[in-house]
Amino acid sequence: MPLLARTISSPVTIEISAGAVAGLAPLLAEGRISTRGDVAIAVGPGQGESLAETIREALPKAEVFPVEGGSMDTAQTLISGLRSTFFDAVVGIGGGKTLDVAKYAASMVGLPFVAVATNLSNDGLASPVASLESHGRKGSFGVHIPIAVFVDLNLVRQSPVRHTRSGTGDVISNLNAIADWELARRERGESVDGLAVTFARTAAQALIDRQDSPDSDGYLTALAEALFLSGMAMTVAGSSRPCSGGCHEIGHAIDALYPEAGLHGEVVAVGAMFASYLRDDPLLPAVDRCLRRYGVPRLPGDLGLTPEEFKDAVVEAPSTRPDRYTILEHLDMDDDEVRKRVDAFIEAFSD
Ligand SMILES: [Zn+2]
Repeated sequence: MPLLARTISSPVTIEISAGAVAGLAPLLAEGRISTRGDVAIAVGPGQGESLAETIREALPKAEVFPVEGGSMDTAQTLISGLRSTFFDAVVGIGGGKTLDVAKYAASMVGLPFVAVATNLSNDGLASPVASLESHGRKGSFGVHIPIAVFVDLNLVRQSPVRHTRSGTGDVISNLNAIADWELARRERGESVDGLAVTFARTAAQALIDRQDSPDSDGYLTALAEALFLSGMAMTVAGSSRPCSGGCHEIGHAIDALYPEAGLHGEVVAVGAMFASYLRDDPLLPAVDRCLRRYGVPRLPGDLGLTPEEFKDAVVEAPSTRPDRYTILEHLDMDDDEVRKRVDAFIEAFSD
């Protein structure tokens, strides 16, 4: 009898715990990832720096590359450094921007990548996508997923709570992304990957009804796992589709028009609220409750945006991902219609 199954790529090691980074140096020293300890350590500002020193004590041949910001230029500088000598692997230590830069650079030079997350601000932790700024715009680039992922809850707890809120918003927006994908299947016959949907939805459902404190081990573990599962959803789908719909189109437009408005997960959370409102999504009350409970932005005002500014972002949103069919493309609203819907949305959800 033939046994038919698909093989999926995943990291070899996932370590999510308080004190997880203690396992990093032994993993690198044991020889599976790096035979002689020739690793490049790409480290972002902040907590990563002292961590990099600890690793260097265990791996004296490691070379440290400071990474500042999340631009394509920064990534190119790192790529040049990685090409200057021989390395077995790249270890990225830091938040979302640092990991995206390191993940992209490792992928470009064909080296395995180890991700060490110091905050949980978005689902780039283990995703096959790196988001980098180039010429004032953020672009998404396909990359290899990490060979190992470490999330140290002690480090995460020391990061600003805003990062945890952002990660929560990014995971919860999966529900909107899935609804948009299913809409595209109904309207345009787009094929939907059931395994990717399973991962993406399970991630969001793991968080949506939680009641525990955002800095508890229980919540942070669930969030880290949910972000990881979201990355796996994108890996099996081969695109960001299961975790990025109209919510993300709005988020990308906000980023382009008002770069200081919020972190990725904060702007897509507001995008998810509005997109779910547009489709009259039965999950919207649960999404709203969860975002409220964890202090994640829900309305344009939470990002410091006026209704008019948010309207402009919604109008701009479809052009940020021209190939993606979502509730925004489906409704194809003109400026007046968007303004009316934005006003009604704010009215409905303001206290
Ligand atoms: Zn996202």
